[in-house]
Amino acid sequence: MIYLDNSATTLPAPDVLRRMEDLRARSFANASSIHRGGQAARVELEDAREHLAGALGAEAKEVIFTSGGTEANNFALKGYLLRSFMERGAWPHLLTTRVEHHAVLHPADFLARLGAPVHLLDVDAEGRLRPETLADALASLDRAPGAAPPLVSVMHANNETGAINPIAELAGIAHDHGALLHSDAVQTFGKLGTKLVELGADMLSISAHKLHGPKGIGALYLSKNVEVEPIIHGGAQERNRRGGTESVELVVGFDEAISLAEDSPERTAAHIAELSALLRRRLAGIDRLRFVTAPEGTLPNIVSVTFDDAERLDGEALIVGMDLRGVAVSNGSACTSGSPQPSHVLLAMGYAPEQARAAVRFSLSRYTTGEEISGAVDALEDVLRTMRR
Ligand code: PLP
Repeated sequence: MIYLDNSATTLPAPDVLRRMEDLRARSFANASSIHRGGQAARVELEDAREHLAGALGAEAKEVIFTSGGTEANNFALKGYLLRSFMERGAWPHLLTTRVEHHAVLHPADFLARLGAPVHLLDVDAEGRLRPETLADALASLDRAPGAAPPLVSVMHANNETGAINPIAELAGIAHDHGALLHSDAVQTFGKLGTKLVELGADMLSISAHKLHGPKGIGALYLSKNVEVEPIIHGGAQERNRRGGTESVELVVGFDEAISLAEDSPERTAAHIAELSALLRRRLAGIDRLRFVTAPEGTLPNIVSVTFDDAERLDGEALIVGMDLRGVAVSNGSACTSGSPQPSHVLLAMGYAPEQARAAVRFSLSRYTTGEEISGAVDALEDVLRTMRR
């Protein structure tokens, strides 16, 4: 199987699995227990937190472990808005974009149903939020008296197209208007470096399984200057901010994945850039193919394409045809594939529904090889030949 669906999830690295297996064999204690086993588990947990905080450029107390990126996004949006409403009796504004992952759009919709003023901002043809769009939106808000600062939630890079948003600039604009900024950095942590706190966001969401770590673990970076309400109540874990017994096993797996990302990142980036260039060269030779992912300002590990004759192609059949030829790719985010809806991201970028439905996303990892790239393009050519007959 040629696996080019690394934006959906990545192969857990051998060292990650070894480390988790090793912990499992040694200890199963609850990190909140007072006995020695519990203390040892607590040390593992806090060491990993220090490591992640150091990698991000944060303080350990600013890192809250979650069950993944989805929970971190829910926590940021609901936690901030609910706390603000409970304390002040007025909802702060929430501004986000039309191309966010559903793990941001659905909590935003939930908050809107509770009565919060939610604004969905338009993006440009490459799927980016323009700084002037954000500045105009913030300047024209009608803020309720006494309401907390607005929250802006903008993803660092898009999971379907790889388009990178200028988070440092957007955070500066948000702050100039007295707003806070949360960024879903699930696709970028460990790929555009790790020191993401430098960008100036007040909250960041990250997830281990996108960087060869285990599924079911991630984190929210929460600046020490921001207060949020827990969304999972039930225990004093994570400094009273997230109840529930911590999975130390998943945490050490995450820790190992961060070490892997920190190990010669330049070499990994060069490898992926070379393969991405090869993929683009080969794809450029395919008739009526159109690149959705721009060559600049995008994540090098994502190349998304669609077709000028999309109305004659069946998006699902394209992916299934690739699968039958041994190639795993996606036609959008994993969470939406399986449903016939055209990608909301491509629609927001101005693509026709048929073109959005026919999109194919190739996503690479440090383990991808040149032979796999060639094999995948051969398979796509073959599928298209059959479908266009
Ligand atoms: N945000 C983005 C941009 C993603 O790509 C994903 C995963 O598909 C998520 C959030 C959800 O993360 P998790 O699978 O860890 O819940």
